[in-house]
Amino acid sequence: MEQKKLKHYWDILNSAEAYLRGGRRTDASAPPELLYTPGGETRKEQLSSNPEAGDVHGPTEDSLEKIAEEVRACRKCRLGETRRNAVPGEGVSNPKLMIIGEAPGAQEDGSGLPFVGRAGQYLDKWLSAINLSRREDVFIGNIIKCRPPDNRDPLPDETAACMPFLKRQLDLIQPRVILTLGRISTHILTDTTEGIGKLHGRVFHFRGVPLIPTYHPSGVLRNPVYRKPVWDDLQKVQRIIEKQE
Ligand code: URA
Repeated sequence: MEQKKLKHYWDILNSAEAYLRGGRRTDASAPPELLYTPGGETRKEQLSSNPEAGDVHGPTEDSLEKIAEEVRACRKCRLGETRRNAVPGEGVSNPKLMIIGEAPGAQEDGSGLPFVGRAGQYLDKWLSAINLSRREDVFIGNIIKCRPPDNRDPLPDETAACMPFLKRQLDLIQPRVILTLGRISTHILTDTTEGIGKLHGRVFHFRGVPLIPTYHPSGVLRNPVYRKPVWDDLQKVQRIIEKQE
């Protein structure tokens, strides 16, 4: 079997294993729960004490709050020394969509929240164009959780140190679809190196979840020619979500 297919099946098996170990919620129609308030405070995930939701908790119990706390205390790479605030990500615990950007910028570093600058405001418009809202339908995070100095690209050891957090978040929230924004998150999660221009329009999978790559909102703000392909990608996201409803 080709390497890519093998990896895909491996990812599916991993998700299934995570499900069996952690007792993931299967009821996608349950109301969304906001885990992080705009101030950045967290509150307990009610799910963890709701046996009716199908949760079975043992010694390996994980939660978004636990991950966020670990991220805020993390010193696994040099970015832990230069950041002002780590940015674990925010959103509902059972999102339709998980959005994955690159790394926090200056405003995110200042607030501890993802996509709060100009690109984030533009991203909110993309979401409302496909009838989704950040508060109710989405979890937003980044490949790396701390701002690299001068917004340089993340280095491979920084990405490697941070990826386990993202995988745990994904396994917990089990979104219907992932949207990667820009080259960095797309390359890392799809194991490709081509430009977004070549990758957009294709559906990949990461840990068993369909993944749509698209341009980064900052790039689209700089170059409106990318609006049309982004709109195509957003419609694809919408179709995948609707198919599962
Ligand atoms: N750009 C990103 O990729 N992530 C953020 O959180 C903000 C800007």
